[in-house]
Amino acid sequence: MLRNDLLRELAHLFFPAVCMVCNEQLVHSEECICLRCLYKLPRTYNFKQLDNAAEQLMAGRIPFERIATFCIYVKGGMLPPLIHQLKYHHQKKVGILLGRIFGEDLRGSDFLKTIDVIVPVPLHPKREKSRGYNQAEVIARGLSESTSLPVIVGNLNRILFNPTQTKRSKTQRWENVKHIFHVEDPNIFAHKHLLIVDDVITTGSTIEACGIALQECPGIKISVATLGEVI
Ligand SMILES: [Zn+2]
Repeated sequence: MLRNDLLRELAHLFFPAVCMVCNEQLVHSEECICLRCLYKLPRTYNFKQLDNAAEQLMAGRIPFERIATFCIYVKGGMLPPLIHQLKYHHQKKVGILLGRIFGEDLRGSDFLKTIDVIVPVPLHPKREKSRGYNQAEVIARGLSESTSLPVIVGNLNRILFNPTQTKRSKTQRWENVKHIFHVEDPNIFAHKHLLIVDDVITTGSTIEACGIALQECPGIKISVATLGEVI
């Protein structure tokens, strides 16, 4: 047994890994989430449903092809602790895992048929530096593992922190969001169908801001996939 393996075994013995949802001890074949919780995740399967709730939320705000969300995100539900671990406890592996499972759902579906490339919603560089990674990119890597689609980072960039949007009017919100993101080289995305990936869709203002910035790429098509959908 290699030294690293041995250390891992010992760590497992003294600090057994537990399910991030129910805190039950995991068995060896399980990672982050026990099978029982994995089975019970409140998946939407809305990639099969045209004009789903997320698409209705974004209708008329940016041009898009389709929007799919993996699970419902509701306070006290199963997804918030998983997203929390991904964002604030350096648990990248749960983002990879959920992205990969979501990708398995989407693989072979009409939703994915014409997608060329996955583009995670970027964090502001300062935020990414303090967190150590971008959680949307981690999810995108998982999606890429199961769909074989390439991931492009560094061409869509966040140049401003995203201020709170909630109490603003539609016009104020537009003024607020239109300069949050910037496309470095529009030619890289030109005539491509992008799958924009984020952790959770709430008001849709982040996706809206991305969509606005991406409009300068000629012939671009946009679809969106997020792990959670706030209801
Ligand atoms: Zn569990």
